[in-house]
Amino acid sequence: MPGTDWLYAVGDVNHRALLTHQGRYQARIAGTVIADRARGRNIDTDPWGSHVGTADSIAVPQVIFTDPEIASVGLTTDDAARAGRPVDVVDYDLSRVIDAQQYLPGYRGQARLLIDPHQRTIVGVTFAGPGAAELLHSATIAITAQVPIDRLWHAVPPFPTISEVWLRLLETYRHR
Ligand SMILES: Cc1cc2nc3c(=O)[nH]c(=O)nc-3n(C[C@H](O)[C@H](O)[C@H](O)COP(=O)(O)OP(=O)(O)OC[C@H]3O[C@@H](n4cnc5c(N)ncnc54)[C@H](O)[C@@H]3O)c2cc1C
Repeated sequence: MPGTDWLYAVGDVNHRALLTHQGRYQARIAGTVIADRARGRNIDTDPWGSHVGTADSIAVPQVIFTDPEIASVGLTTDDAARAGRPVDVVDYDLSRVIDAQQYLPGYRGQARLLIDPHQRTIVGVTFAGPGAAELLHSATIAITAQVPIDRLWHAVPPFPTISEVWLRLLETYRHR
C-alpha cells in the first residue's frame, strides 16, 4: 500500500488480476517481502526482482474454460493497440498442426503470437481450441524469461504433439 510498509494486500482486493493463481503469486511475493524485511535483508524491487510482482503487469495467464478453451498470457492485439505499442502479429491455424487431428479428430483451433519487433521477444500469446489451457504455460515461460525469438528456434517440441504449433508460428513469422 502506498505510504505504508506494514500493510499488504494480495488477491482480488488489490484489483491487479482477479485470478486465483495471481493472488497466490502475490501472496508468495508478499510473504517473501515480510520475511526478508524481518531478517533485515535488502528488498529487490527491480523488475522481475524477488520482491515485486512484475508478472501482474506483463504475464498474467488466463483461461476461459469453455469448449473450445481460450487461453492467453501477456498482451492481446487489443491491449497492444490500446497501449499504442507496436507488435508483430503471427496467426496459425491449430487444425493444421499434424498431431491436432490425432489428439481429437476434427480438431479446430487458432494460435496467435505477438512479438515486440525491437526486442524480438514474445509479449503475448493466445490459443483457442481443445486442450489450449495445457499449451499456455510454455507461452508464460517464454514471456517471463523474455526468450529471444532466435533462441526459441532451439526449443524443440516433441513429435508428434500440438506443441509443434510453436515451430509453425516461428516459421510463419520468418517467412511473412
Ligand atoms: C464464478 C467464478 C469463477 C471463477 N473461476 C476462476 C478460475 O477458473 N480460475 C481462476 O484463477 N480464478 C477464477 N475466479 C476468480 C477467483 O475466484 C478469485 O480471483 C479468487 O478467489 C480470489 O481470491 P481472494 O483470496 O483474493 O478472494 P476471495 O476468494 O474472494 O476470498 C476473500 C474472502 O474474504 C472474506 N471476506 C470478505 N470480507 C470480509 C470481512 N469484512 N471480514 C472477514 N472476511 C471477509 C470472503 O468471505 C472470502 O472468503 C472465479 C471467480 C468467480 C466468481
